[in-house]
Amino acid sequence: MGDALCDRPRDQGALGRYAFAIYFPHNPTLMDHNQGQIGAEFGGVGGDFRNSCVHLSDIHIWAGRTRQPVILGKVSGRHGSDTRRITECAKTPAPSLAFHPMSTATPDLQTAATIIATAKSMVATAIQALIAAGGPDKNQTLAYDIAHVAAAVETASSLLDYGAKGTIEGNITCAFTADMVHDFVSRLIGRENMWGVDPSKLSSAHDFVQTYRAPSFLASLATEQGPRHLADDFEMVQDTFRSFANKVVAPRAEHVHRFNEDVPEEVIAGLAEIGAFGLSVPVEYEGFSEGGEGEYMASVIATEELSRASLGIGGSLITRPEILTRALVKGGTEAQKHEWLPKLASAEVMAAVAVTEPDYGSDVAGLKTTAVEAPGPNGEAGWLINGVKTWCTFGARANVLMLLARTDPDRSKTHRGLSLFIVPKPLGDAHGFMFTQDGGGKMEGRPIDTIGYRGMHSYEIAIENWWVPEANLIGERDGLGKGFYLQMAGFENGRLQTAARAVGVMQAAYEAAADYAQNRTVFGQPISNYELTQVKLGRMAVIVQASRQFSYAVARLMGKGEGAMEASMVKAYVCKAAEWVTREALQIHGGYGYAEEYSVSRLYVDARVLSIFEGADETLCLKVIAKNLCDSANK
Ligand SMILES: Cc1cc2nc3c(=O)[nH]c(=O)nc-3n(C[C@H](O)[C@H](O)[C@H](O)COP(=O)(O)OP(=O)(O)OC[C@H]3O[C@@H](n4cnc5c(N)ncnc54)[C@H](O)[C@@H]3O)c2cc1C
Repeated sequence: MGDALCDRPRDQGALGRYAFAIYFPHNPTLMDHNQGQIGAEFGGVGGDFRNSCVHLSDIHIWAGRTRQPVILGKVSGRHGSDTRRITECAKTPAPSLAFHPMSTATPDLQTAATIIATAKSMVATAIQALIAAGGPDKNQTLAYDIAHVAAAVETASSLLDYGAKGTIEGNITCAFTADMVHDFVSRLIGRENMWGVDPSKLSSAHDFVQTYRAPSFLASLATEQGPRHLADDFEMVQDTFRSFANKVVAPRAEHVHRFNEDVPEEVIAGLAEIGAFGLSVPVEYEGFSEGGEGEYMASVIATEELSRASLGIGGSLITRPEILTRALVKGGTEAQKHEWLPKLASAEVMAAVAVTEPDYGSDVAGLKTTAVEAPGPNGEAGWLINGVKTWCTFGARANVLMLLARTDPDRSKTHRGLSLFIVPKPLGDAHGFMFTQDGGGKMEGRPIDTIGYRGMHSYEIAIENWWVPEANLIGERDGLGKGFYLQMAGFENGRLQTAARAVGVMQAAYEAAADYAQNRTVFGQPISNYELTQVKLGRMAVIVQASRQFSYAVARLMGKGEGAMEASMVKAYVCKAAEWVTREALQIHGGYGYAEEYSVSRLYVDARVLSIFEGADETLCLKVIAKNLCDSANK
């Protein structure tokens, strides 16, 4: 079975009104339909693709963007039953869907706002109880739960403005607020004494929750994703990245995942061409950022669209260069900015991040890799690096590693003894690499096979006497001991981007589930007709939009130089939510959800990593969110 992408308008037959693409996951080749290859690939379903489009009686097609089912049959054969998806728009209006429920509930934003204010005050009280009990480290379960509740409350709070923009937006806001209260109560009940709050404070929310958690209400939201309300400029960003993701990333995503292959070079080149790597590079260094909200919003929107197509070969590509960009902008010398930022913006230099070590992941401050001053081959000033880094994603393809090393031998200085280096390296083979340097330096990379998030590959890298010039210490002499802070500056935005990555994965999962539900008949009806399916889809749609709107809100805050804490909150909330959304999307597919040939199985395993990297969920909740909430309350 081959792959094909056909994106020209049909001019005859039943599909004559559509411009569409058919994706065949087993082979990402773009096939020219005029060559008749499709017919051969299908073993005799017509010899000319133009005709075969009309006669594809054994292919099962759904129109993605409009959700219009165009069911012509099913492929069967060597690869079993499979799904073919139209990824471009249909020109005819979408017909009404199988989903039927209409809720009569109207939004009640005033009550939502009151409930959110009550929840906030309860979190503040709980933080006082946490402080009184000795803080997050002594009361981990309480601190973790408070952090997650606080993140959900902040998400609801950020939705209030959105909710005021229309009825659908208001209903999404009310549904999310009710969901937040339900989660709050389930964490609180039985532990009220630890929390130091009276659960009856939430009893006034009962009728609200009853209305907006009602199955009929959630079911009515199953196809109501809600508008994004992006300004025109950002709509353009979204269209550009969605179009690129649909045309270049999505057709390759399944193949790379199934065969554990590398990120295709055309994805990197294409992203460079549309400016993806320069979104946060200031214009004076040949990037596209003019600072402020635009920089963060563009990056969030682009990341979501790319992740919707693939987390592994799309949405995560811009995160690493961005982390290095932020560190350079914050702490690099002028010469370093001029040297590296234009190259990062154009993708001439691709970066990997080498922070984690086998014994130090969450506890970065303890890491052991050392950088010691030593002259280079011609006696020039520089540093010799020794140590082992792990989980260095993209480490083979990257031209440089952003590497955190201990420059102060006094380990009692913990994070204050760390500095950040740009370590140039040759391009390596994805399946493992070994490089040597004149003077005896050695760098050896071993790939770590993973259940998902494939394409970029993560490596354990052993580094022995690898020499870098003085100019590659970020900030040069001024950067000594500041590596931890510079890396954290990059990671703050990395967390926001990871939330955007999660939104993209969730959006893809929701779409896959909604499509499948309309086309799978069980007990004589499409499963989309059943209340349970509709309620799941409704909750998914609500969570996806709430997560998206919160990520926009955090982007706006970061554009003003604020929002570090909210970036951790959005990461914690959204990444965990992505696990539920992808789980239910897979579940809606029944057995086929567990089959590799359905993309939803990839989304499920990909989503699982989101709560681990860029700050493991527990560490983020305990050491960042709960700690900061306590610190702020103590001020
Ligand atoms: C696919 C993938 C890609 C990655 N890419 C990169 C990369 O490019 N560059 C890079 O530097 N790193 C990368 N990482 C590493 C990632 O950042 C770490 O895995 C993460 O920081 C957690 O560290 P760890 O794996 O050592 O877990 P540990 O720190 O060993 O933690 C194990 C578990 O214990 C929990 N835990 C930790 N401390 C506490 C505590 N005090 N109380 C209670 N629970 C606690 C953690 O939350 C976690 O659940 C990647 C990881 C993965 C899986």
